[in-house]
Amino acid sequence: MNKATRKTIIAGNWKMNKTPDEAKALISEMAPLVKDADCDVIACVPFVDLAVAQQAAEGSNIKIGAENCHWEVSGAYTGEISATMLKAMGIEYVIIGHSERRQYFGETDVTVNKRVRAALDAGLTVILCVGELKEEREQGITAELCRMQTKVALQGVTAEEMSRIVIAYEPVWAIGTGLTATADQADEVCGIIRDVIAELYSTEVAEATTIQYGGSMNDANAEELLSKVNVDGGLIGGASLVAEKFAKIVEFASK
Ligand code: PEP
Repeated sequence: MNKATRKTIIAGNWKMNKTPDEAKALISEMAPLVKDADCDVIACVPFVDLAVAQQAAEGSNIKIGAENCHWEVSGAYTGEISATMLKAMGIEYVIIGHSERRQYFGETDVTVNKRVRAALDAGLTVILCVGELKEEREQGITAELCRMQTKVALQGVTAEEMSRIVIAYEPVWAIGTGLTATADQADEVCGIIRDVIAELYSTEVAEATTIQYGGSMNDANAEELLSKVNVDGGLIGGASLVAEKFAKIVEFASK
């Protein structure tokens, strides 16, 4: 398997944006624009938007995902949502380990791993985010950092379960900043992550795993980023909130 045969996935991360009515409007606007996509198209939306987004996406090729899940099935965890709850409402995808969760909500590699395990146990597909801080890139430890984040997050994940793991390489310095990794930087780190998967599992598993780039990807830079051999799609924040921009990225990924 290679880039041509791996699944290309363009996923939006809406973060804490859009009320249910706005979510319905945005999905309805996107659906006709991405209907001819030759890649998977996902919108990961706030918990309160999931149901309405699912309804709005019905009959289209847009799949709806969540932005996080807890590691327990149920219990005294006020404010949290379990992977089992997401699965019960027909959700297929969940983002785990986004840098904003790590930065602002105390998420660690260990809790990311627990959430990954729970999501897989519930039958979800995980979009696992890894990536270095600006200082870590400057210190020259990007590779070590991404290797370690990937390894810890995947502890206890079997080779079979890797078919339900998508990895998003998201350099933290590029998220929401307008700064983008160069296509070569994105390709290099996605390749390093693919090597880690080969070490942990096998070349076959590594070659079959979708590895996205995320970090200020937009309609102006997506074509170059997506042309790289190790970049199998994108996790898109800001540009996923604008239907035409998101659709344009989907169009580049479909080539
Ligand atoms: C993200 O939220 O994962 C992201 C990549 O955001 P942005 O595209 O806005 O940088």
